[in-house]
Amino acid sequence: MTALAVPHHRMLIGGERIDSKRRMTIIDPSDETVVATVAQGDAAHVDAAVAAAKAAFERGGWSRATPRDRAAVMRRIAAAAHHASDALIELEMACNGATIRLATGFHIGYALAHFSYFADLAESYAWHRPASVETFPVLSQSVVHREPIGVVGAITPWNFPLLLTIWKIGPALAAGNSVVVKPDEHTPLSILEFARIAEDSGLPPGVLNVVPGDGADAGARLASHPDVGKIAFTGSTAVGREIMRLASGTVKQVTLELGGKGPSIVLDDADLDLATDGVLYGCFAYSGQICESGTRALVPAALHDEFVDRLVERAKTIVAGPTRDWDTDLGPVIDAAQRTRILGYIEEARNAGATVVLGGQAITGGMFDKGFWVAPTILRGVTNDMTVAREEVFGPVLVVIPYDGDEAAIAIANDSDYGLAASIWTSDNARGLALAERIQAGSVWINDAHQINCRLPFGGYKQSGIGRELGPDALDAYTEVKTIHLDLAGGRETKPYDVLLGNSDAIGIPRS
Ligand code: NAD
Repeated sequence: MTALAVPHHRMLIGGERIDSKRRMTIIDPSDETVVATVAQGDAAHVDAAVAAAKAAFERGGWSRATPRDRAAVMRRIAAAAHHASDALIELEMACNGATIRLATGFHIGYALAHFSYFADLAESYAWHRPASVETFPVLSQSVVHREPIGVVGAITPWNFPLLLTIWKIGPALAAGNSVVVKPDEHTPLSILEFARIAEDSGLPPGVLNVVPGDGADAGARLASHPDVGKIAFTGSTAVGREIMRLASGTVKQVTLELGGKGPSIVLDDADLDLATDGVLYGCFAYSGQICESGTRALVPAALHDEFVDRLVERAKTIVAGPTRDWDTDLGPVIDAAQRTRILGYIEEARNAGATVVLGGQAITGGMFDKGFWVAPTILRGVTNDMTVAREEVFGPVLVVIPYDGDEAAIAIANDSDYGLAASIWTSDNARGLALAERIQAGSVWINDAHQINCRLPFGGYKQSGIGRELGPDALDAYTEVKTIHLDLAGGRETKPYDVLLGNSDAIGIPRS
C-alpha cells in the first residue's frame, strides 16, 4: 500500500500562488501525523507581499470602492466560506488539535459570523462625520473623514487561527485597506484557504496576501516594514513587546492582544453548581489555550474545601479522546514543547508548596502515546505570588486561591501584570456589577465565561494589550482620520493673514 501524498500549500502574494525552497511541516497535535507541507516565506517574501498590497491599494479597486460595494464582496466571501465550513473546520482541527465541537462552534462558527458582522459594519460605519457650522475662529463648515490606512500587517497565533485573523482582516478590509497576514508556523492552512475563497468571491488580487513563515524572520520584517502603516498582533506578551519595538521605527499604529491570567471570582452567595461548571469551562475549554481563560479560581476560605471537591469531582468527567469524535471533551495541547512547559509549571508549583488534587501529568497509554496530551490539573494551596498564579501557563491548569471578604478578592484579582478578562459568580446581580467595576480587565463576565460578542469591544488592560478589537468602533483602529475645513466666510478681510502679511496697525498690535 502506498502512502497518500501529503498536500503542499503555497503562499499567496499578489493573487499568485508562490512556492519557496524552504518548507514547513504541519503536524496534527492529536496524533502527530503529517497533515501538510507549506511554503515557508522569509523577509524577501514579505517585501514582495507588502509591495503587492501597496500596489493593490494604489490601484484603488478595493481602497476606493464604495463601502456598499466592499460590503457586498465581503458578504459573498462569508457565504462561500460558510459553504466551505466543513473543510475549514477540518483544517483548523488538523493544525491546532481543537475538538470538533470547539472547532465547529468557536473556531469556524464564530469566525464566519464575525466576518459577516464586519461586512455589515462596512456599510453602517460613519465614514464622513459632518461637523456643525463653526463661527470661531472663522465661519466654516468641516467634515471629518475616515480613510483606509494603506497596508495593514496581521501577525496571528495558533490557538484560533482563522477567528483571530478575521478580527484583523475583517475591519481592515471593511475599511478598504490591503493586508499581509503572517500566520503562526503551526496553523497557516485555514487562512490560506479563506484567502483563496476571498479571491474566488471577487476580492481583487493583492488586497489579501498570506505569507506563512517564522516569527523572527517573516514576522519581524512585517512588523518593521516601512510601507506597513499598521500592525495588528495577537500572541504572547513577550512577542508583543518586540512588535512594539519593531513598529516604533516607522511609528506605525499598533493593536496588541496579548496574554492573560484571568481570575474567576466565586462569591459566597454563588450558585455552586453553576460556578463549578462555569469555572471548569472557563479554564479547561480548549485545554486552557485561550488567552482570556479563567486560570485562577478565587474562592471564599469558608467554601474552599467544598468547592475544590466539587471541581475535582466534576473535572473527572472530562473525557480526552480523538478530536474528530463528537463525544470528546478535551483535545491535546499544541506541541511537545508546550507540553513540557506546562508540566514544568506544575512541577514548579509542587516545589513551591502547592498540592495537585487532580491530574498533574501527561495523559499516556494507547492512543495518547501519540500527540501532546496533558490531564486537566487542579492545584490547591496556591498563593497569588507563586509563579503558577502569575505567569500564563496556556494549558489545562487551574489554581485555587482562598480569600476572606470581597475586598481581598478584588485585591488578588487585580494583583496581576495582566488584565484581559475575569468572571464573577454570584446570585446577586447588583453585587456582581459593583465588583465588576473594580476589576482591572477588558471583559468581566458575571455568571459566565468565554463570552465574546463581535458587537462589543474586546481587549486588555495592563500587559494584556493595547487597543480593542470587535465592536462598532473596531474600524477606528484601521482608519486614518482627516478633518477637511471648508471656508464659508469668503473674502480676504475675514482671514487672519495680516498676522504675517499685514502691518501691526491693521491687526491692532500695540507698537512698543
Ligand atoms: P507567540 O507570541 O509566540 O506567536 C504569535 C505570532 O507571533 C506567531 O505568528 C509568531 O510567528 C509571531 N512571532 C513570534 N516572534 C516574532 C517576532 N520576533 N516578530 C514578529 N512576529 C513574531 O504566541 P503563541 O504561542 O502563538 O500564542 C499564544 C499566546 O497568545 C498566549 O500568550 C496567549 O495568551 C496569546 N493570545 C492572546 C489573545 C488575545 O486576544 N489577547 C488571543 C489568543 C492568544
